[in-house]
Formats: sequence, C-alpha cells, structure tokens
Amino acid sequence: MVRYVYDFAEGGREMAGLLGGKGSNLAEMTRMGLPVPPGFVISTEACRAFLATGSEPDGMAEEVARHLAAVEESAGRTLGRADDPLLLSVRSGARFSMPGMMETILDVGLNDESVHGLARVSGSARFAWDSYRRLLQMFGATVMGAPAARFEEALDALKRARGARSDLDLDADDLAELADTYKDAVLRETGEAFPQSPAEQLRRAILAVFESWNGERARLYRRRERIPDDLGTAVTVQRMVFGNLGPDSGSGVAFTRDPATGRPGVYGDYLPDAQGEDVVSGIRNTVPLADLERLDPASYRRLLEIMETLERHYRDLCDIEFTIERGRLWMLQTRVGKRTAEAAFAIADALVEEGLIDRREALSRVSGEGLARLMFPRFDAERTPEPLARGVAASPGAAVGAVVFDSAEAARRAAAGEKVVLVRQETNPDDLPGMVAAQAILTSRGGKTSHAAVVARGMGKVCVCGAEELTVDTARRRATAPDGTVLDEGRVVSVDGSSGAVYLGEVPLVPSEVMRRLEAGEDGAAAGDGLVGAVTRALEQADAVRRLEVRANADTPEDAARARRFGARGIGLCRTEHMFLGERRHLVEEMILARTPEERDRALDALLPLQTDDFTRILEAMDGLPVTIRLLDPPLHEFLPDRVELAVRVATATARGERPGQRDTELLEAVDRMHEDNPMMGLRGVRLGLAVPGLVAMQVRAVASAVVARTRAGGDPRAEIMVPLVGDVEELRLVRAEVERVLAEVRAESGVPVDCPVGTMIELPRSALTAGPIAGEAAFFSFGTNDLTQTTWGFSRDDVESEFFPAYIDRGVFAVSPFETLDEEGVGRLVRIAVEEGRRARPGLQIGVCGEHGGDPASVHFFHSAGLDYVSCSPFRVPVARLEAGRAALGDETDAADGADGTDRADQADQADQARGADGADGGRRDSGDGGDRSDPSDRGGGGDPAAGR
Ligand code: PEP
Ligand code: MG
Repeated sequence: MVRYVYDFAEGGREMAGLLGGKGSNLAEMTRMGLPVPPGFVISTEACRAFLATGSEPDGMAEEVARHLAAVEESAGRTLGRADDPLLLSVRSGARFSMPGMMETILDVGLNDESVHGLARVSGSARFAWDSYRRLLQMFGATVMGAPAARFEEALDALKRARGARSDLDLDADDLAELADTYKDAVLRETGEAFPQSPAEQLRRAILAVFESWNGERARLYRRRERIPDDLGTAVTVQRMVFGNLGPDSGSGVAFTRDPATGRPGVYGDYLPDAQGEDVVSGIRNTVPLADLERLDPASYRRLLEIMETLERHYRDLCDIEFTIERGRLWMLQTRVGKRTAEAAFAIADALVEEGLIDRREALSRVSGEGLARLMFPRFDAERTPEPLARGVAASPGAAVGAVVFDSAEAARRAAAGEKVVLVRQETNPDDLPGMVAAQAILTSRGGKTSHAAVVARGMGKVCVCGAEELTVDTARRRATAPDGTVLDEGRVVSVDGSSGAVYLGEVPLVPSEVMRRLEAGEDGAAAGDGLVGAVTRALEQADAVRRLEVRANADTPEDAARARRFGARGIGLCRTEHMFLGERRHLVEEMILARTPEERDRALDALLPLQTDDFTRILEAMDGLPVTIRLLDPPLHEFLPDRVELAVRVATATARGERPGQRDTELLEAVDRMHEDNPMMGLRGVRLGLAVPGLVAMQVRAVASAVVARTRAGGDPRAEIMVPLVGDVEELRLVRAEVERVLAEVRAESGVPVDCPVGTMIELPRSALTAGPIAGEAAFFSFGTNDLTQTTWGFSRDDVESEFFPAYIDRGVFAVSPFETLDEEGVGRLVRIAVEEGRRARPGLQIGVCGEHGGDPASVHFFHSAGLDYVSCSPFRVPVARLEAGRAALGDETDAADGADGTDRADQADQADQARGADGADGGRRDSGDGGDRSDPSDRGGGGDPAAGR
C-alpha cells in the first residue's frame, strides 16, 4: 500500500525527494528537538499521482484525516472549531526551492463563526478579523482564481477611506468590513461563495498546491533552472502560529551568515506584529534582525543559539524563517541558504578553516558559473560620480542599462538587444520575465529578503532594493531622485549591487580582483585571505583532483600567454584564420585571384614567413606544452571583400562613365565565382586543402619552420597539426600524406627532427560514426562541437539562436541552447560513439574537445564522464573549466558513495539547490554558437573580420 502522508516526526532531510525541501527540513528540525509547530507532509508522490490522473489518489484523504487528528490532539483543539479553532497553514514545498513560484495559504479553518471564537480566545478581535481577511484573500486568489488585484484594490480603497497609512492603522471593524468586501469579490469573480467548511478549505488548498506545480510561473522558473517537470511538489500542513498577535509577536527571516558576502554575523529582517508573508512582500519596511535584541532579548538569544545549532548541523549557511507568538519563538522553515557567488566561495573556504568540511567538499559547494561571475568587472571607484540614490545592496555586481518600469517593457527591449534595468516599487512573481530580461533590478521598497532580492540573488542578477529616496511612479513610467533628477523610461543608469549605489549614466568598469589575480598568475600562498584567497584555494583543490586536462583556444601569442597564466596546459585549438586577415588579406586575395601556379606560389610564399613568425611566437608562449594548430577552415570567399560593396563600386564607376578598377572587377568576378548558397556546408575545412593546391603545404611548412626556429633557440616546441571538417578517412589520409611529405622536407632541409602528430577534428556526424577507420589515420581527435551541433541538429549556428531559439526554449523543446550546453542525448551520443570506436581502433588515442562547450560547466561534466583527455576553451573560461573539471571528478566519488549513505545524498541535493540559487541561470548568456569570445569578462569585442567572428 502506497503511503502519501508523513508526520514531521517521521521524516528527515534525507527525504527531500519525497517530502520536498520545506517538509524534509521541518522534519529535520523536529528531529533535532527545535521548536517547530506540529504538522505533516503530503508527499510529492501524491502530487505526481494527482497530476497524472487529475484526481487525488485513493487513500490520501483518509491519511490526511488521520494525521490531522494527531495534530488536533496535540493542540487540544479541532480544525475550525467555532469557539476555539485550530488553524493551519498549507504550503507548497518542492524538491528544489522555487522562490515566489508556489502559493501559500494561511489561516485555513476560519469561517464566519470561528472568526468570533478566535477573537475571544486570542483576546483580539482585530487579530481575528485580520487573519480571516488574509485567508479570504489567499484562498480567493490562489485556490478559487479571483484576480489578486481585486483584494489589493479593496484594501487600498479602505485605507484611503479611513486615512490609514498602513494596514496596522485599520481596526477590527474595518477588517470585518474588509472581510465582507472580500467575500463579495470572491463570489462576484468566481461565481462561487467562499467555502465555510474547514475540511473543504483544507482539501481544496492541498489540491491547489498540487495544481500550482503546473502554473505558468512555476514552469518558467523550472525551465530556466533546469528543474525536471515531473518531480511534483509536496504539501506541508502545519499548525498556525501567529506573529500578528500584537507588539510582543512578529515574524522574521535570518541567515546564519551574510548571503551576499559570506561574512559571519547576524543577518536578517524582522517585522513586529506581522505574519511571515509581510516580511518578504516588502509591504512594510522591516527592521534589521539585530533590533530584535532590544525588542525581545530572550527570543533573540534563543534564535542565535538555534542558528548556531543549525549551521553546525547542516555544516553550511542556513536561512531561516521564524515567528514569535507572544514571546514564544517558533521555527517555520530552514534550508541551506541561497547565496551569491562571492559568498559561496567565501563560506566554503571559511567552513574548511572552521573544521566543518574538508577541501573536497568545499570544492563541491562552488561552481564555475559563480567563478565566471566573479571574473566580471566592477565599477571603477575612481570614476564613479555621486550616487543618484542609495538602497540595499541585495545582489552584487555592476550593471548598466536603460530604466524600464514594467516587466513586459523589459522583456520587449531586451529581446531587441537593449540592456535594461527594471525599476519597480517592489516586485512580485508576475515580474519574473522582466527580471530575467533585465541587467539589474532596482526597487524603492523592501530589504535583503524582499522578493526582488531573493529572486535576483537566485538568478545572479544585480539588485539594489529599498532605494526609498527614489519616488517610483510606474503609471507615469518615471522615477524621481531626491535631487529632482527625473528618470524617464529609457534613461541610462548604473547599478552597483555590491554597494547599493545607483548612478546616473554609464559608469566605467574595472576588472575584478579575482581577475587581477588570475591575470597575475600568482599561487595560492600569495593570495591570502578574503575572496581572492578562497577562489585560489578552490582552484588548487580542483587541480589536485581533476582528471581532465584544460587547454585553451588561442590564436595569438598574447592569448596563449594569458591562457597559460590562467592555468591552461597547452592550446587545444589555434584557429589560423586570423593570420590571413588584416594587412595580410591582400596576399590571400592574390592567392585566390592567381591565374597560374606560379602566381599562386608567389602569394603563398609571401604568406609563409608571416605565418611562421606567428607560430614561432605562439610556440614560445606555450613552450613545453602542446599547441594544436588547425589548418585553415573557413571558405576562402570569407577573405574577399563584401560582394555588395564591390558591386556598388563597380556599378558606380560604370554609371559615371569611368572604367571600374581592374582589381575590383577581378575581385567581383572571384566573389561571384566562389559564391555558395550554403558556405558552412561548402568548400571549407579539409575540402579546401584538397581543392586548393599548395595551401596545406604552405601552412605545414610554416608550422615546421616555427618548430625548427624554436628548437634552435633552445625551446621545447610541441606543435600538433589538426585537420578540420573531415567526414571520411580518405580525406584525412590524403591531407596527412601531404603533411608528412612537407615535414620530411623540412627535416631534411634543416637537420632538425621535426615531428608533429597529425590529428583530426570530429565535427561531422559522419566522422563520429566512422571514428574507427578515421582513428587509424589520426594521432588524436578533437571534437568540434560547434559544427557537430550544427550538423547534427541541422541548425545554422549563425542564425538560429537569435531567430527562433527563444520560442523553442519557451515552448520547452530544450531548456538551454544546444550551442551553449552540449546536447547529451543526440550530439553527446555521437561523442560517446566516436570515443569508443576511436579508442578501440587505436588504444590510448588522445581525445579532446575544442568547441565552445569545452568551457561550459555542464558540458565539462559530460566530457569528463565520456572519458575525454582534455577540454579546450577560450582563455577566460580556463579557470571555470579547471574548477568544473575538478567538481566533475568529485562526482565520481560521491556517486560511488551515494548508495552507502543517505545523508550524503541529502547534502548533495542541498548543494545542487544552492548551486542553482547561487549560480542560477543568467551567468552570462553565451553566444556560444559563434565560437567568438563574447562571454569574456573583458568583453574584447568582435572586430570586423568575417572569419574572426566564427
Ligand atoms: C567547432 O566547430 O566546434 C570548432 C571548434 O571549430 P569552429 O568553431 O572554428 O568551426
Ligand atoms: Mg568547426
């Protein structure tokens, strides 16, 4: 017989899959003997059964009734009893927390009769009516589907009529009147009266939680955070305790350390005479948690004790929700708290120092996405003007954008490529699309735990909240600063989520401290305490455990040197195309326009010394480490001038009656001759080498001559030659024969024993599927996952991401672009086939990846599991790849240990959740399909060369 309901006392945090995060942690706190109001959890299994069949599973109602009876017995009261009602809270709690996504219903059990009973036993009619109107509002909106705005409007209207500044100024009669208004609104909006039966309230509230799993906001959040759609949510049913019973009551949230910086201390917000919902909604301004020491010293001391107990027990930062009911402290929630990237590194490092975790575990608690975020620039302190306004530094980082005042506008402008800052009085879950689209979120109300702050931190977005000096008028789409400056929609501001300052205009950025250290290439000992030290120690731990080697994609000596400082052990892809651009372009044109073999050879001969010099300097920068040089890949016409420009020049000259320049005419002819409808599938890669005589030989000679030069200079050059876009072993055999011939020539001419391994890229499905025979001719494989993704899906890597991927992601075809994170099911399958068949044909075959996925955290884990030897990525992502390669190696051990110890599993789940929170989705949307470096923190920009952008 399946069981669907569990008492808190029966569970623990290892049961998060079944009881959800909230339920399992309440169970854990109950087990620890902490003051938790009694309750029970309806499992995710029940939710899944409900979602599958549309009705509650058999036996669930009876189980709920039995557990309710137990809660009633412990409370000495029954649900909704007219003279002294037991009241319940009904909350959602999925495996992974989804802030603001799922609905909470408080005060279940109140009705027209029991509200009077509550008034009597509590001694406060105001409190009773306040609770009732809250139930009507939450139940009416969440369960019955009445528009939430109706309730807010009614409350605002009543406040205006009474001249009340806050809801605290409304008395019992006002609230009773409001309850009537709400009941009318429910009936009017839904055609149904608010149910007076407490049992029916409970039943419908539970089912509404189940249903909210499939709400639009929940789906959006899951897609962004890559949370599977089929987990379902648990429902926590708990005896109500009341923070709104007067000044000796209240609600608060707390963190055991600062979730923004990781520093130890008391962090949180408290709101006297309020329920928990009020604290996070930002409706009233909270006081710092430290003020509780003055307001209620006994509860404050007890809370600090519990916070310490929890942190030691969970061995991590915990976040906590609590309520004080007439001087008695109750714990309503705890979980391993979300944190910024900075805090994640700082806390993991500090917990090692405190002896709570070891370095391996510390490594599992940070992430590459977090590291990437720390490598981004901050505002230049020297060049920041006076702030326009200040608020709470809620989620760190620096962002610049045009102000917009609603979610839809933010999404619209962002889709058109504009950077925006979403400005609101406060945010609610409806603002989520705008928050996703914005660079930063700025609110005039609420503290560090307001909706805006929590969600922004979860997404890694810059956020300043509670900037009360700003008057935000969303209706007129403008904000006014204290000095009278008016921010109309579209005006640019700079938002510093680390200091809370907001500046007018665009403030210049400076590199991050972490970046500075990585650039300097210092070791951990020199890094000292603080964030930079914490990052360095995490990287050193990753290096100590990882199996994957990390190389860089670099094609200049400067990039090679930087990559080396960042910890790259070689170059996995030197794209030579940039060597054919700029001033050298005319030599390439000569080669293309050549009419005779002699003319072509002359052009190639002129290119040779230039390329030799490039290779020599790159080999010097990577002395002693492998440098994989790829033969020219892009179609040649990419090196010719733009066809339209040429045609216009020729036509204008003709129209003027002049003779067009001969070179222009020739070039236009060549461009026309070489035009391809599908150049990505045309004369490129290995095909160029086979079709253009002398091209391979010149490049190989340049590589070999560079090796000779470096050897003579006493260096240790380790050049490897890589052939792109091979689809058949015969292509590779032919090119390789030519490579070997030239190498032999250079050996004979120079007397230096030049030997370069010749390998191939695997970037077409056919090469993956014929990897066995290809391995017979290849000293190494390197997966070109950009082209492999393009050709496996049939997606043009240059077009689709901006064209229709947003719709695909919205409609759930995939959660993330396959050009960003490797599609394991399809492209990954080809990778596995090629690894297996390649190594079977040639045991010990060296295999790496040099597509953009080589620097993508999730993909790095895949390449680790697929047995690759190395990943290669842009220099700036080398530290990220090192860290993730280390974390991937830890995964091997924890997978093995998993079966043995359930607690480990719970820890990992917390970490996964936390990593989601810390490093949630944004992390820099990458334009990975283009192979360019737009994800680089330094934002080096593109340059205008067509081939350079590939
Ligand atoms: C690839 O296709 O993954 C690759 C690395 O080559 P490019 O991006 O230069 O086509
Ligand atoms: Mg390619």
